[in-house]
Amino acid sequence: MTGREHPLDQVRAVYRALEERKIERHCTALARCCSFRANGRTPFLTKGEALVAARAWRASGRREISVPPDGSCPFLGATGRCGIYEARPFGCRTHFCEAAGGPHARGEVRDLIQRLEEIDLGLGGTGGVNLVTAVTEALHEPDRATDRGSRRGKGRCRGRGK
Ligand code: SF4
Repeated sequence: MTGREHPLDQVRAVYRALEERKIERHCTALARCCSFRANGRTPFLTKGEALVAARAWRASGRREISVPPDGSCPFLGATGRCGIYEARPFGCRTHFCEAAGGPHARGEVRDLIQRLEEIDLGLGGTGGVNLVTAVTEALHEPDRATDRGSRRGKGRCRGRGK
């Protein structure tokens, strides 16, 4: 990753770096971690993560999210599949679900969390926000604001490593 990348590409690079770590997981796609009310936990997203998720949701032709009556994630489809799987947030990837082996040890991913926090600062974020609030705000953010780094040209990116 370089500091010249667009902030949202930097977020995607963090996701790829996580995938390359080969940390052993036991996820069997039960979607338990997506049932926020049932498991009592909701992922918190940095602004960059929320914008990446919102972009993916918009790309599928949708403009809003709504929380299902059972309190599950708004992105969880009727078939039990994540509607933004490739763009799912970091917290979904580190599996806070106990059935998948519990959360990643912080030491295994601390550097990646720091990268997300630095991107968040560059985007004017204020730290982790719960998924529903973070994505709702991101969906209402004009694209020109999130694209400003790339539109101003290389070297003017407001994300990490300015
Ligand atoms: S974003 Fe996808 S993986 Fe994460 S909680 Fe929602 S449905 Fe589950």
